[in-house]
Amino acid sequence: MTDRPHSDKLYDRATRVIPGGVNSPVRAFGAVGGRPPFIDRGLGAELIDSDGHRYIDFCCSWGPLILGHAHPKVLKTIQATAARGCSFGATTALEVELAEFVTGKVGPLEKVRFVSSGTEAVMSAVRLARGFTGRDKIIKFNGCYHGHSDYLLVKAGSGLATFGEPSSGGVPASFAAETLVADLDDQEGVEKYFEKYGDDIACVIIEPIPANNGLLLQRPEFLHFLREITAKHGALLIFDEVISGFRVGWGGAAKLYGITPDLMTFGKVIGGGMPVGGFGGRAEIMDKLAPMGTVYQAGTLSGNPVAMAAGLATLKVLEKEDGYNRLEELGAYFENALKENLGEVQGTIVRQGSIIWLIYQKEMPRRADQIEGAAIDLYNRHHRAILDQGIYLPPSGYEVMFVSLAHTTDMLDRAAGIIGKTAQSL
Ligand SMILES: *Cc1c(COP(=O)(O)O)cnc(C)c1O
Repeated sequence: MTDRPHSDKLYDRATRVIPGGVNSPVRAFGAVGGRPPFIDRGLGAELIDSDGHRYIDFCCSWGPLILGHAHPKVLKTIQATAARGCSFGATTALEVELAEFVTGKVGPLEKVRFVSSGTEAVMSAVRLARGFTGRDKIIKFNGCYHGHSDYLLVKAGSGLATFGEPSSGGVPASFAAETLVADLDDQEGVEKYFEKYGDDIACVIIEPIPANNGLLLQRPEFLHFLREITAKHGALLIFDEVISGFRVGWGGAAKLYGITPDLMTFGKVIGGGMPVGGFGGRAEIMDKLAPMGTVYQAGTLSGNPVAMAAGLATLKVLEKEDGYNRLEELGAYFENALKENLGEVQGTIVRQGSIIWLIYQKEMPRRADQIEGAAIDLYNRHHRAILDQGIYLPPSGYEVMFVSLAHTTDMLDRAAGIIGKTAQSL
C-alpha cells in the first residue's frame, strides 16, 4: 500500500474543522474506503498529491476540466482577468461575450442567465418553469441528479403514481410531495402521472444523458416521448445538461437527439474549472425572470468576470482544436483498450463521447434499478489498488470517468492495462 503521510495529516486536520473533512461528500472516499489523497496540483491529465505521487486523472474535477488541468490558455486568461479585479457586482463585457457564444452554439437557447453552480442553475430553472406555467408539481427521474436543492433531493415514494419522499434530512415532506419521481425508460409511469396530475405539472426535468448514477443512456424514443407529452399538457421540458452540455458536443444532448427542450441547464465545462452555472431557453420564458418578469433570481457573484473568462477561454480552445472530434477518438480508444484488457472479466463499458462508465455486469442498464450491487462492489473494492498504481478513478462505482484533451493514447493504454489486471486479480 502506498503511504501518504502528508495527505493523512491534512485529513486529520480537515476532519476537526470541516464535517467529514470535505466540502462535498464523495470526496471523503466513503464508498471505496481508505483515506483520500490531498491534491497539491494538476498538470494536463495528471494530478499530483501532497506527497508527490502522480496520477492519471479520470475524474477531471467531476467533468469541468475538458482540456485537462491548468491549460496554459485558460490560465493566462484567468490571470489577466483577475489582474483587473475579481468582481464588480456590475455587468461586464465578458458576460455578454459568453452569453453570445453559448446562445450561438446551442440552438434552443435564445437567452441565458449565468449563476455560480449547477445546483443554482437547476433550482432557478425549476422556479422559472413554475412561474411561467403557474403550476407546482414537477416530474424527475430515479437515478438522475440535479444538484442539492430541496425539491430535487427526492426519491420515489412507495408504489407508482405516489408522491416523492425526501432523500435527505432537512427536506420537508410537503416540499417532496410536489416532486413526482418516475423511472427512466418508463413511458407508462410518466403517462400515469400526466393522466392524474396533468394540469398541475410545471415541468419534466431529466438528465438527457444520465451520468450521475452510472451512465444510463436512454433510448432516443423515450426522450422524444417526453418532448411530446410535455408539449401536449402545457408543461415545460427541462434538459439538465450540467454534465452533457459542452461535453458531448456543441449543442449537448439536445442536438445529439434532435430535441428542443424548453429550458436547459449548464455547469461544469461551461466554467472551465471556475464556479459557473447557467440556464436558458426561449426568450418568451426567460423574460419572466426579474427584472423583466415576476420570477426572482439573483446572485452577488453571478457572471463573475474571472469565471466567465475561464469558461470562454475553454470553449474557444475546444472550438479551435476541433475538440469534440478528438474527444470522441480518445473516448473510443479508451473504450477499446479497456475491453481488450478486461479479457474474461465480465464487464460492460458504456460510453458517450468522452464520458465513460465501467460496470462489472453483463447487461447495460437503462434504469437505476438495473444496476447490480455486486458490480458496484467489485469496482469499489479495486479502487484503492488502482489508485496506488497511479490511476485516479472516481471514488464510487456509480460515478463516470471523463477523458480530457490532455489525455494521450499512451496514458489511456497504461490506465486500461492497470484496470484490467486489477479486475482480473479480484
Ligand atoms: C453536477 C451536477 C449538478 C450540480 O452542479 P453543482 O455545480 O455541483 O452544483 C446538477 N445537475 C447535474 C446533471 C450535474 O451533473
